[in-house]
Amino acid sequence: MTFLEKIRQNALNDPDRIVYRLESKSEQKGRTELTWGELESLSDNLSGWLKDNLKTDLPVVVYGHKTPWMLVCFIACAKAKRAYCPVDLSVPRERVLGILDSLKPEMILAPEADCELFDSAKCLDINSIKEYAAIKSEPADLSTLTDTEDLVYLIYTSGSTGTPKGVQITRGCLDNFIKWGMTLGSGIRESEHPVFMNQAPFSFDLSVMDLYLCLYSGGTLIAIAKDLQGDMKLLFEAFNRSGINVWVSTPSFANICLSDPKFDDELMPGVQKFLFCGETLPNHTVSKLHAAFKNAEVVNTYGPTESTVAVTGITVTKEVNEKYEPLPVGAPKEGTKIRICSEDGSVLEDGEYGEIVIVGDTVSPGYRNNEEQTKKAFFMTTENKKTVRAYRTGDKGCMRDGQLFYAGRIDLQIKLHGFRIELEDIENNLMKLDGVERAAVIPNYRDGEVRNITAYIMPAVMPEDSFKAGVKLREEAKKYLPEYMIPKKIIFKETLPVTNNGKTDRKALAAMLDRH
Ligand code: AMP
Repeated sequence: MTFLEKIRQNALNDPDRIVYRLESKSEQKGRTELTWGELESLSDNLSGWLKDNLKTDLPVVVYGHKTPWMLVCFIACAKAKRAYCPVDLSVPRERVLGILDSLKPEMILAPEADCELFDSAKCLDINSIKEYAAIKSEPADLSTLTDTEDLVYLIYTSGSTGTPKGVQITRGCLDNFIKWGMTLGSGIRESEHPVFMNQAPFSFDLSVMDLYLCLYSGGTLIAIAKDLQGDMKLLFEAFNRSGINVWVSTPSFANICLSDPKFDDELMPGVQKFLFCGETLPNHTVSKLHAAFKNAEVVNTYGPTESTVAVTGITVTKEVNEKYEPLPVGAPKEGTKIRICSEDGSVLEDGEYGEIVIVGDTVSPGYRNNEEQTKKAFFMTTENKKTVRAYRTGDKGCMRDGQLFYAGRIDLQIKLHGFRIELEDIENNLMKLDGVERAAVIPNYRDGEVRNITAYIMPAVMPEDSFKAGVKLREEAKKYLPEYMIPKKIIFKETLPVTNNGKTDRKALAAMLDRH
């Protein structure tokens, strides 16, 4: 059954059950809840309008944060056979314009923003969305929506050139991911209509895990708005009343919560599963979770946006946590093969370290309108006599005991608080700022984790007051970079060290950082 068929079945079975509830700090003007029946009928109606009014089959941008209307827009696009591209409100305008330039969408659905922000494409604001979603339309014919190669969504990730790359995901990829996701840990029990937590913004693919496993299992999604994530007291109150069964987040977010001793199974008695993805899951996080949530299982999963959220998974029991440090990221899912490859592309033996290459049925067909980057990272290969897509992750790792072990990056991509960042993306955007001749950013590690980022700047003219100049630069950088990419510290230098082949000498800069 495809995800759309499953959504319809769930809506027919229990139209009055809540499918989506928004928990936020600020008072919401519009709706904060949606039932299964409403999701089905509003998305059918809006999809009917989209089909009648869109002239091309280009993707549709859905611009907003976590209003329930985001969900209606996603499903309406999927029913109208248009891929959707979620863009969070926190993405700076210049970056949004970069995405629009790459995507060239025919339409933007903006349930939480003013359409005046966009002049390049047709845009519907919340009033128009509500109006068109209220016009009765025939239910979408789901039998016409089964082509596994049709695109279902696109997610833009940090790109080393300074322009984000649009990862295209097909219906087949998504259905294959969901099928496996439902088996994570001891499995997701549809009969219990589990309550899932959504923490990541929809423009990050981690959100696909909670959103689609919830939709498939007929559950309820509790979406935690960004403002609430910054207020522990109110956040914990929301946790307490939400009845969450399946927790989905980066390990970083769980660590923030664990820093408060009140984060335990008394606060959240319903939690059965912690599903993690996106960055290293430290052993100490697992130990704390086992102690605080006696009956919950902890699952580590691994994967890039380019292969639909995650492709390996393991339940980290007490035994696993004691046996391995660092923890494995799990065994590959059905339909996926992990190859560990040397620089020349040959496949290495178990126990040998090399680049992790993902082969199989959740690999994206490539980046949107970006042949160069697609060619670099994606290729076709043969597996079990079938031609399948493969993706070079840029991650280092090895296979041992049937498990994949992650061992850092080959390139300059990092994870900071769960966010994927190409260091060159920051540098190229800093160099757009007035008076910046060159920029090099260096991650600052503690206990193997990136804690923050420092930028070394070679200015056109050395500032008299470096502190003030640093504050100003950070402020100006917000024009191009999301908050999480802004370096914490700015150091001005008359020159930046270079290696023999003329590249920025990152090792020398990292050594300088240690001395600062
Ligand atoms: P994203 O596309 O944002 O999901 O980021 C994908 C990257 O995050 C991967 O290529 C890895 O570098 C990293 N990553 C994902 N899952 C894990 C994990 N369980 N442990 C360590 N790193 C991970």
